[in-house]
Amino acid sequence: MLKIDMHTHLMPEQMPRWSEKFGYGGFIHLDHHRKGWARMMQDSKFFREINENCWDPKVRINEYLEFDTQVQVICTIPVLFSYWAKPKDGLQISEFLNDHIAEIVHKYPKQYVGLGTVPMQDAELAIKELHRIKEMGLVGIQIGSNINNKNLNEDEFFPIFEACSKLGLAVMVHPWNMMGKKHMEQYWLPWLVGMPAETSRAMCSMIFGGVLEKLPGLRLNFVHSGGSFLPTIGRVEHGFNCRPDLVAVDNPINPREYLGKFWVDCITHDPLMLEYILKVQGSKRITLGSDYPFPLGDLEIGKFITEMNLDESVVEDIFCNSTLEWLNLTKEQFL
Ligand SMILES: [Zn+2]
Repeated sequence: MLKIDMHTHLMPEQMPRWSEKFGYGGFIHLDHHRKGWARMMQDSKFFREINENCWDPKVRINEYLEFDTQVQVICTIPVLFSYWAKPKDGLQISEFLNDHIAEIVHKYPKQYVGLGTVPMQDAELAIKELHRIKEMGLVGIQIGSNINNKNLNEDEFFPIFEACSKLGLAVMVHPWNMMGKKHMEQYWLPWLVGMPAETSRAMCSMIFGGVLEKLPGLRLNFVHSGGSFLPTIGRVEHGFNCRPDLVAVDNPINPREYLGKFWVDCITHDPLMLEYILKVQGSKRITLGSDYPFPLGDLEIGKFITEMNLDESVVEDIFCNSTLEWLNLTKEQFL
């Protein structure tokens, strides 16, 4: 069975010193301190240690063979979004990262599919880069769950979503710039509590703000199984019904109506939760994701799903059909 992992991160082995180039700090660079490993540094501050499987496409292909997974959809690491940078600098970083992803996709067309990144802080520049992304053969973009603390329903972002819809580019929404981060530094709380909340924030903003209603052809995928949105849909719907004066001000449609109209990945780490997500979303709207190569991901690439005694057709939907539909690809191109 074809397996496509649609949620994986990758970055170039060598990164320019953006801080020196642009004359201000805050950017990530790599310190290759020992063979096969590098420290991601934000100026002089240590951010995360990464292995060569974060940049070497051949190492990744071999690691994936162990889990019978043929295709990886690659996108950058959210800390590289740089939405806070000056727009023209953000564009330059996006171009650099997108060129790198396009190079890998062209070199290994049966193993890699690419999602780009755009400077969301400037719609005009973002749309300019969307056209280039399309021309380079990338099939969509990855964006953050908020843009410099602004929600995704803000008017300034709508032209970007509209352009994605027109160009036929898919959108993966990834939690980043987690709310409340500075008040919960302990226990990895920004990742364990902030990320699921961020994804729900993105989904609620886009649904209540009418983005999904206005752009029914926009192919959205909310990662980590939609964060806390799907488990709390009852509460969200009840809020919509009991306080329409607060909730239904920009879109009169019940949020439950949108279930099954967007995609989510399967990263629940929990068969019971996946059964629930299957009930509310349907198998055609759940994609195989791993968050590889990071430790909080499902690094056995969906093994728990094969142990759930699901119908083969359901597993096939999750392992490939849903992603093919989300990204508008055909199975044949990987055979
Ligand atoms: Zn991720």
